[in-house]
This record gives sequence, C-alpha cells and structure tokens, in this order.
Amino acid sequence: MKRIYEFVCNCGQRIDKLTDYETASVQCECGGTASRTISAPKFNLEGWSGQFPTAAMQFDRRHQEKLKAERKQNS
Ligand SMILES: [Zn+2]
Repeated sequence: MKRIYEFVCNCGQRIDKLTDYETASVQCECGGTASRTISAPKFNLEGWSGQFPTAAMQFDRRHQEKLKAERKQNS
C-alpha cells in the first residue's frame, strides 16, 4: 500500500513522496540520499520539550505541527 512519506536529506531538502513502506530513502536533488523521517506516534509523546538532535527530527516535528493544524481545521 502506498502513502506519502516524508524524506529529509542531509542538505536540508525535504521531499514528500508517494511511495511504498519498504522505500527507506530516495534520491535528493543535490545528488545525495534523503532518508525517510520517522513519524511513529511515540514521537508525539516523547521529546516535545527536549531538543531534537538532528535536522530530520526538526522537520518531523514541523510536519506533525502541520498535521495538527489541519486536523483542527477539519473538526
Ligand atoms: Zn540533498
């Protein structure tokens, strides 16, 4: 089953791509490899008050905030 996953490259590029669950990385425009961000539910519960160690985590957090805002609009 395909869904849209978010990938983040070391260069900071964020890529939303419709892909299979098995696809853990995609090629970035810079020629590097963008890794799929982890958006497991536990990340919503943990680490909100702490500092995320990587840029990828920051992207994921921003994504979650966007989703939250969208849900608020829909309700
Ligand atoms: Zn890149």
